[in-house]
Amino acid sequence: MTTTDHSKVLQQIRGKPGKMAKYKKYSIPKDRPQSDLKKKCVRCGRTGGHISKYGLHLCRQCFRDVATKIGFKKYN
Ligand SMILES: [Zn+2]
Repeated sequence: MTTTDHSKVLQQIRGKPGKMAKYKKYSIPKDRPQSDLKKKCVRCGRTGGHISKYGLHLCRQCFRDVATKIGFKKYN
């Protein structure tokens, strides 16, 4: 289970209506307007090291992988 992905838990308690109701009432993460968890890498889904400049929305590791392909150059 990742930071905000609670779908695995919902699969596990699908056949248990009592537990499902309790989980939905107390444990599903709130949908917040602003949060670091809202910024996810479009390539891998990571939340840390996010680069949103120029509308990239990549994490730093994916940016390293694709930087030369999308036209970035390293000058030193
Ligand atoms: Zn990534």
